[in-house]
Amino acid sequence: MQKLTSYAAGSWHEGTGEGAPIHDPHTGEAIATVDSTGLDFQAVLDHAHEVGGPALRAMTFGERAALLKALSAAIHEHREELIEISIKNAGSTRGDAKFDIDGATGTLAAYAHFGKSLGDATFLNDGEMEQLGRTKRFAGRHISVPRLGAALHINAFNFPAWGMCEKLACSILAGVPVIEKPGTPTALPAWRTAEIIVNSGVLPEGAYQFICGSTGDLLDRLGMQDCMAFTGSASTGAYLKGNENLVKNNVRVNIEADSLNAAVLGPEVDPDSETYALFLRNVALDMTQKTGQKCTATRRILVPAERVEEVKADLVAELGRTKVGDPSDRDNRMGPLSSPRQFEDVKDGIAKLQEVCDTACGGPEALFETGCYVAATLLVAKDPRAAIIHAEEVFGPVSTILAYDGSAEEAVELVTMGCGGLVTSAYSNDNDWTEAYVLGVAPWHGRVWLANERSAEQSLPPGMVLPQMVHGGPGRAGGGEELGGLRGLDFYMQRTAVQGFGGLLKDAFAPKEAAETGA
Ligand code: NAP
Repeated sequence: MQKLTSYAAGSWHEGTGEGAPIHDPHTGEAIATVDSTGLDFQAVLDHAHEVGGPALRAMTFGERAALLKALSAAIHEHREELIEISIKNAGSTRGDAKFDIDGATGTLAAYAHFGKSLGDATFLNDGEMEQLGRTKRFAGRHISVPRLGAALHINAFNFPAWGMCEKLACSILAGVPVIEKPGTPTALPAWRTAEIIVNSGVLPEGAYQFICGSTGDLLDRLGMQDCMAFTGSASTGAYLKGNENLVKNNVRVNIEADSLNAAVLGPEVDPDSETYALFLRNVALDMTQKTGQKCTATRRILVPAERVEEVKADLVAELGRTKVGDPSDRDNRMGPLSSPRQFEDVKDGIAKLQEVCDTACGGPEALFETGCYVAATLLVAKDPRAAIIHAEEVFGPVSTILAYDGSAEEAVELVTMGCGGLVTSAYSNDNDWTEAYVLGVAPWHGRVWLANERSAEQSLPPGMVLPQMVHGGPGRAGGGEELGGLRGLDFYMQRTAVQGFGGLLKDAFAPKEAAETGA
């Protein structure tokens, strides 16, 4: 069986332990093992600090942007191969695999574009110069410089390529070397992507290392200039954030955790309108795309009480059109859950929700004799305030309809019972209702997505995370923030207020014009 290796301190290492098996979720067969036993984690950290960091910091933003452009092209060259690997290990359909891989290359390309605009600069300016003295002779301005540490990136299993590359794009552009640790269940596509990155020779040595398996005692070794960006469940995020060494050294931590994202149907949306059609399409897409294993997928669907039966029937019909089965068959639109562990978790989660919900379609039963398949499951809450509906993220093709009275106030009250989300979507043509909803939910959300008749035809679905817009959310969503164009670099840089002679600040620390860098 294939043993997946780690790329550490300039070479590939095979673990010396037995390794944890990973599976083909279509058949349930083990296909490879993951093991980092025997790795010297101090050597990994030293290599990033002493080799990768200095090499990256010697470059301008424009030069680092050119690296990202080249990486995007190198990964794209292997697109077909990566799609096949993702089908095999993540149970992704072709469409789901493309969503992950094109998301990865697209985000790298986007950051190459953002970085090109910074040209020859080696630090960033933040805002204008401020007069601090009686005259302009004494002034101040803010600059941001790359931090001198390494970035440990711990990623979830559900986006093995995108999750790795969206963090990498911001970190490398900021000038900070990466130590990547992928989620184990889908380590094969992550490992092959890592191999492509290393073999491409695009990044300077030490700028990228890859740990396949446990991070051992690495968290206990991170220092004051290092950072850790985590994506995964709220419980793992909270546990890691509490690591004594991270707390003691004030290691920067960004947590991207789970979220009970809600879609809300406004009270006046006509059943024959494009807004209503989009609502049905987007909810069904969120439930079935990547078999519901998307942190941004809709878990709660708020519907005016008098329309629950109509929406339920329409969604059941929409979900019925999704063919489920072998992800390598191009006709199928939904594959299995990504791993046997996921399969067990999702079946348990559906059964728990059923205690407080009626089942419109689907259920916790295995769909086929072999493989990690469940049906798309639509539930209807008996009581929309039942606590478990707002607390239990069932990470699969599962969503629950909640009746509300149609007012923006009640919608806000129910949605914010989720205690913090990545994204919420609202479908309404009433501007007053929409404004009240947005202002009510915004303190609890990283992103609010709106549909109305005027934009419906051009909109991209709410579950799609875009490099231009911030991603993350408060409360149980982790309290973190990623992406958002150049905002995504903030986490990897130190903002410093420089105060002194105005003439010096004006000349030496003036914003640089973008230059041609080839990015
Ligand atoms: P998970 O079980 O929390 O694991 C996340 C990552 O943490 C994995 O790489 C895991 O490695 C690692 N990990 C676990 N314990 C660790 C420890 N003690 N030390 C170091 N690393 C440790 O989550 P998951 O099952 O992979 O992903 C699903 C969850 O992620 C869902 O809840 C989903 O909502 C969330 N998610 C959030 C976002 C977002 O952007 N907010 C995006 C995607 C997914 P192993 O796999 O080796 O255990």
